[in-house]
Amino acid sequence: MNHPVRTVVLLVVCFAIVGSVLAWFAATTLVRADFARVVKTAQTVRSQDLHRAAVALGQSLHAMQQAPAWLGKVGQLRELLADPDDAMRVDEANRWLTELPGKLSLDLVWVMDATGRVLASSNYRSELNLIGDRYDFRSYFREAMMGHNAMQYARGVRTGEPGFYFAGPIRAGSRVVGVVVAKVNVERVATEMMTPGLFVSDRNGVIVLSDQPLLRGRTLSDEAPVYALSANERVQRYRQQNFIPMPITRRDTELFHGLYALEGESAPVILLSSLVPNIKGMHVHAVTPLRSYVHLESRRWLVFALIETAGILLIAFVSALLVFVSRTSSLRLQLMDANAELQRQAETDFLTGAAMRRKFEQVLQTEMLRHRRYRRTLCLALIDLDHFKRINDEHGHLAGDEVLRQFVLGLQARVRGSDLLGRVGGEEFALLLPETDPDQALALLERLRSEIAQRPVIWNGRQLRLTFSAGLGDWHRTESMEALIARIDLALYVAKQGGRNQIVMAEAPGENEPSPVSGKSPA
Ligand code: GH3
Ligand code: MG
Ligand code: MG
Repeated sequence: MNHPVRTVVLLVVCFAIVGSVLAWFAATTLVRADFARVVKTAQTVRSQDLHRAAVALGQSLHAMQQAPAWLGKVGQLRELLADPDDAMRVDEANRWLTELPGKLSLDLVWVMDATGRVLASSNYRSELNLIGDRYDFRSYFREAMMGHNAMQYARGVRTGEPGFYFAGPIRAGSRVVGVVVAKVNVERVATEMMTPGLFVSDRNGVIVLSDQPLLRGRTLSDEAPVYALSANERVQRYRQQNFIPMPITRRDTELFHGLYALEGESAPVILLSSLVPNIKGMHVHAVTPLRSYVHLESRRWLVFALIETAGILLIAFVSALLVFVSRTSSLRLQLMDANAELQRQAETDFLTGAAMRRKFEQVLQTEMLRHRRYRRTLCLALIDLDHFKRINDEHGHLAGDEVLRQFVLGLQARVRGSDLLGRVGGEEFALLLPETDPDQALALLERLRSEIAQRPVIWNGRQLRLTFSAGLGDWHRTESMEALIARIDLALYVAKQGGRNQIVMAEAPGENEPSPVSGKSPA
């Protein structure tokens, strides 16, 4: 894997790890905030329902509480208490009481004397009639005997039917001589006064009203006041000695706090309570399951997946962009390399590696400017291989090519790095010698001439002897390149004419014929 790709992969992995952690955190926060709103809404709506229900129940029960107060003033009942053994009065009171439940939405009405013995009852005809029973142990009786209107939840001794008992005193003058009691069965309260799903606890923290059988007879918690009552009191009132708290426990999870778990309900619930006005210690409660909680975990994963996907797409896009940019810039570098290579190829002779004519002339021009400025001496030699045609003719073109290559190699090995050799024709070369005066140049060319002449090129096992002729001149500062070349070319011509294998110094500008300075004809 190359470097930028590895960096990108590494970056992507780092982003993925950090991004996943952030996405999980964000998903949790979002889902939690969302659910908090659901809880808040449920709480608000349910509290309002609950409050309305509590007020309605309070009003209904309060109205019923007034019934005994009014009944206590009824003539028939007072007369009965004045003479409880008068069978006619008992019969009259019984018949009068029988009419009441239907008229007043009550289930049972009866009258007791000051000892708690039942004298007359609306169910006097029934097998379960209360006449003769004593209920002096009931707290409503005791309270009524003290002159108060009383209310109590209890289960009937004969019927076992749970209900609310409303009791009031019957007076003779200022003395309380008896008690009248009206009972409303829980069933009636439940159907006539209650919103489904709500449940009611009495002052002892016992759930006395609920459409869920699981809750009835349970306590709100293990701290309910009912546990402080004596076993006897509990049995008398509730017909039940042991009380189990309702099956509700706190259910705090990583995602949410403050919820409850209710037995038999898979969703967590919220528990709300409202005091019933006018009725001492009575509360209405609502347990609301939050079904959407069940989907909370999967919602968290969904939100996480969405954020993660968006993040991955973003990272992929940025990575693609990075790769694209890095590819483009590497392509640009490759292109620059290729251009430089093309330029080099355009400037360099393919066969010999010497500079091409155009490049050579460019360098010559530049050097002439530089030398003019710094008043330095610049020499130029034009070199032509002697009788080169013969080599081609005798040994073939490939041999000629090899000779050209070897000649250039040999020359380049013997000159300075700052000197430049150019191929200006088929077997014609130019040698630029910067910072070189004519004596040094001549000495160099002489050395080259004699060394090349003495060292034949080996081709197919045969020795090919090679000589060259050259014209040499130093540049005069006012002279043009064309004039310089023409002057040296003339010297080369003289060298050829003079028998080849020699160097001829060009005449200074304005002078006439150049004359050979050295060399000898090849054999
Ligand atoms: P002179 O001493 O008068 O210069 O004689 P010469 O034979 O060298 O001169 P001429 O101009 O008659 O011939 C030059 C020959 O160089 C002709 C041509 O075929 C050959 N030549 C030019 N370029 C190349 C090349 O690239 N390869 C080969 N093998 N031969 C070449
Ligand atoms: Mg030639
Ligand atoms: Mg030649």
